Amino acid sequence: MNNKKIVVHAPATVANMVCGFDILGFAVNDPYDIMSISFSDHAGITIINEDEYNLPTNPEKNVAGAALLALMEEAPEVKGFELRIKKQIKPGSGVGSSAASSAGAVVAANALLNNKFSKEDLVRFAMNGEKLASGVKHADNIAPCIYGGVTLIRSIFPLDIVQLNAPTLYVTIVHPQIEVRTADARSILKQQIQLKDAIKQWGNIAGLVAGLQKEDYDLIGRSLEDVLIEPIRSILIPGFDLVKQKSKEAAALGGGISGSGPSIFMLSKSESTAKEVEQVMHEVFENIGLAHHTYVTTINQHGVKIIS
Ligand code: ADP
Repeated sequence: MNNKKIVVHAPATVANMVCGFDILGFAVNDPYDIMSISFSDHAGITIINEDEYNLPTNPEKNVAGAALLALMEEAPEVKGFELRIKKQIKPGSGVGSSAASSAGAVVAANALLNNKFSKEDLVRFAMNGEKLASGVKHADNIAPCIYGGVTLIRSIFPLDIVQLNAPTLYVTIVHPQIEVRTADARSILKQQIQLKDAIKQWGNIAGLVAGLQKEDYDLIGRSLEDVLIEPIRSILIPGFDLVKQKSKEAAALGGGISGSGPSIFMLSKSESTAKEVEQVMHEVFENIGLAHHTYVTTINQHGVKIIS
């Protein structure tokens, strides 16, 4: 048996990107999960967790296992994998913890298999992990985690992923220590929308994509507006409106709910603004008396990184 071992860093991701509900997402440089994979003589998938989260080791219950099982169906030459996960992205925080595990596992396995599969194949396998975590196959965390940068998921069936150019952007993320269940955050959404709201939303999506391509920070800032999802979901996150208002006063371009929350993210043109935004976030949550964790980071342009 080949005893090669592949180590990867799988980054956190911000899905939805304000107006881009279910279709836009980006990867960040911090935090990330550390994972390693090797072939195993034992049939099937052996998962070893090296963190404090007590996630399942049964491959059918761990998103990384679900993703690898899908890959193994198309790699009959593999008898088994041994996967070690050192999770640094807290599960359920809304910054793509499950996507990092699913994407990291299949990218690492593909490196062991001398890149047998395309990136699109890897997204297809990893979406099985998202289905396990949230009940539906979605790619707005998986695609940026695998491709890096900002990605547009134009369609899932069939998969159509478009990598978008983006200028340098600093990202400030706050994770308040409350639980927002993805299922709850989805169930409160309206199933019908008004045409006038739809027009505003698609104007903003087009403006955001154009702003990223043209590196036009003002256009990016103006387009970071969500008239459909945020007004409903933000009710689940105490302090949300104040964080947004004060971050913009501190010169952030804009931002919103990361994934289905509770994390909130803000984009800034400079590192100093991103750090001021971090201060604003601290103040808001200290006033409310809510424990929280912050990150100041940048957009990750390469996705899951093979370390060795
Ligand atoms: P996130 O946005 O952090 O991915 P989700 O709610 O979408 O949050 O997914 C987290 C859920 O997936 C939790 O219920 C967690 O127990 C489950 N899960 C199973 N395996 C993993 C894994 N390897 N990494 C993260 N979450 C996992």
